[in-house]
Amino acid sequence: MNNFMLELTRIMHKASLTESANEQIQLVVSAITEAIDIDVCTIYRRNANNDMVLLATHGLANRHPIIIPKNLGLVGLVAQSKHTVNLTEPAEHADYYFIRQSDEEAFHSFCGTPLVHHGEVIGVLVVQSRKSVLLGQEQEAFISTLSSHLALLVSALPLDKGTMSKYNLRSKGLSGASGTAIGKIQLVKSERLMDFPDSHAKDPTHELAQWQQLKTAVAAEVRRERNAVKENLGESLASIVDVYQVLLADHTFGDKVESYLKTGLGLLTAIKHTVRYFSDLFKSMSDPYLKARHDDMDYLGDKLYQVWLGKSASPPKFEGSAPVVLIGNQISVSDIISLPAEQLVAIVCFSGAALSHIAVFANALGIPAVMGVGELKELNNGEQVIVDGNIGQIIRNPSKPILREYRLLAECQLQIDQQLQTLTHKPAITSDGIVIELFANSGLQADVMPGLHNGADGIGLFRTEIPFMVRNSLPSEEDQIEVYQHVFKAYAGKPVYIRTLDVGGDKPLPYLPIIDEENPALGWRGVRFTLDNLQLMMTQLRAIIRAANGQKNIHILLPMLSTTSELDKCIELIDMACLQLTDEGITVCRPRIGIMIEVPAVIPLLQFWYKKLDFISIGSNDLSQYLLATDRNNPFVGKLFDSLHPAVIHELKRIIQIADDYTLPLSLCGEMASDPVAIMLLIGLGVRRVSLSSSKLPLIKWIIRSLSITASESFAQKALLLDNAAAIRKLGYATLSKLGIDINNIQA
Ligand code: PEP
Ligand code: MG
Repeated sequence: MNNFMLELTRIMHKASLTESANEQIQLVVSAITEAIDIDVCTIYRRNANNDMVLLATHGLANRHPIIIPKNLGLVGLVAQSKHTVNLTEPAEHADYYFIRQSDEEAFHSFCGTPLVHHGEVIGVLVVQSRKSVLLGQEQEAFISTLSSHLALLVSALPLDKGTMSKYNLRSKGLSGASGTAIGKIQLVKSERLMDFPDSHAKDPTHELAQWQQLKTAVAAEVRRERNAVKENLGESLASIVDVYQVLLADHTFGDKVESYLKTGLGLLTAIKHTVRYFSDLFKSMSDPYLKARHDDMDYLGDKLYQVWLGKSASPPKFEGSAPVVLIGNQISVSDIISLPAEQLVAIVCFSGAALSHIAVFANALGIPAVMGVGELKELNNGEQVIVDGNIGQIIRNPSKPILREYRLLAECQLQIDQQLQTLTHKPAITSDGIVIELFANSGLQADVMPGLHNGADGIGLFRTEIPFMVRNSLPSEEDQIEVYQHVFKAYAGKPVYIRTLDVGGDKPLPYLPIIDEENPALGWRGVRFTLDNLQLMMTQLRAIIRAANGQKNIHILLPMLSTTSELDKCIELIDMACLQLTDEGITVCRPRIGIMIEVPAVIPLLQFWYKKLDFISIGSNDLSQYLLATDRNNPFVGKLFDSLHPAVIHELKRIIQIADDYTLPLSLCGEMASDPVAIMLLIGLGVRRVSLSSSKLPLIKWIIRSLSITASESFAQKALLLDNAAAIRKLGYATLSKLGIDINNIQA
């Protein structure tokens, strides 16, 4: 083999063209035998009992399920030693384990390498030969390189698949909405735009006319869906559908389609390229909320395709009255409303993430959702399935004991939900009488109302990035005023914290010069970017102040500050905007000004800045990222990202102390606020105002009402003495449990 890198690329490319992970793995084992001229290639997968189950083989007899018991044989040796074992005459080795069903006695060389995923051995790749010859260095390097690619593929397979059991088939995804449900599968098949083959058009003028017609038809379809949702489920859910209308109406989207059409592409191909462009743009963003918007884009693309095919008005038919779990690549709003609300118990999507709109919908409906489980094959309508939205997992064809456990859990859940619902309009007050202000994080017009619905005391963080990003030119002052006014009106009389643009770095605006940064998280983002694009900052400030229309509840939040001159420049600009508008005869109330505490460097600067600031807000997501030197979006270091890390909580204590010393109002608006253990810790450290996603408000309110300041303070004191996040979390669970909050039944 002359060029094994080329061979590797060829194998992985060929594998990527197959339909399922199982097929991919089978293809890879066959390709390996060919590439390195060997007789056998086998992949074993570790199951829940730590036995090694044969997953795929080329060359071994595989008439029966082959399972090597935990730690046995040379396969067990590879797994335990965590490195490659390369030898001849395996049968003479002390660890040899004879697998009767495999006919493997005919092979005289063995080379096994572990498949490691996220630091754990999840399987073993073995190659064997009839000849008694050691595998050469180059071949050995080839299989160990391939093993890291294979580990990714193998990790995507359901754990129990290898045992051939038809029960308890688990698939992992992401939690989209918490809770558990048991129901019958109803498959939702949707036509996917991305599957449509590329084509060219003879007459671009004709395609342009078709595009106008299609746009009108889809707009009508989305309006119809909105009305149906409003009628069946109420206005607050109907507003979630608005995002598709907004995306469709945005001229950036239309302009892009039209520019592709003018190059001679067929209509669907032009739409496909446009959807891919915007979807990729969202995917590349680091902010999890914005990242999830790519899903809305894909959804809109599929909707356009379906209407083009004339298939929009035929949602699946449901028979009987059994609880239904909708499963599919894209679940549409029409699918949801085609079922009586009480019959739909859960949603499972092949794609999507926790912040996708269908997850927002599930949250609003109060049903569990699991997103991104990957393309599940061999699903049957009517098959029983458990959906565990708490841990983002589904279990198909569950066995009786598993069902019993989940039914018990569902009963507990019901009790908790009933308790939570009664709290919506009650204050978040601790059992010893201290009020904690609960605000909502928001960023889309569609998720403004759910916050109010769940009893938010205000908007603690409005991320203004979205209206800027879904366009291909800057929104004008008037465009922006419309967006901010919607928020201010909805929250009239309540505090609203509007953050200035946090773009740049890996959240570039497509229509401004994009630079390729080596370390985008440490680069040109937040005020670093907007101060270099002053005109942009000025227009936004003017729009915020004008939209406020003299209201006193408006706060401007500045992201990513790290120097005094940045703060001074921002304040100067805000004052300049106020002055300009006053001169123009507009009623102005100077907004209160505060900063996000994200870059650790600002902590010691607060002693110099406090007179210039009206408040501070801790952005625990970025603060943790920078303190721990851990990319918040990189799954490979995901285990290291924990806001309960002692370094983070000691810094939080320091910030809270400084805020107290200088009577600087403080809040926290990162994900940490929706973690049950973290909220107790924050309250114990002295935080009295937090902002979190709307869906988590009821749960966090319930926890706060079950806590006392004394218990929280005592927990915080003990936590500050511990040296690792796991120990802090364990202590937190035990403390919550003593307070009657059973963390096993709830999940933040
Ligand atoms: C944060 O960093 O904690 C924060 C709330 O800002 P974002 O998640 O939008 O970066
Ligand atoms: Mg941030």
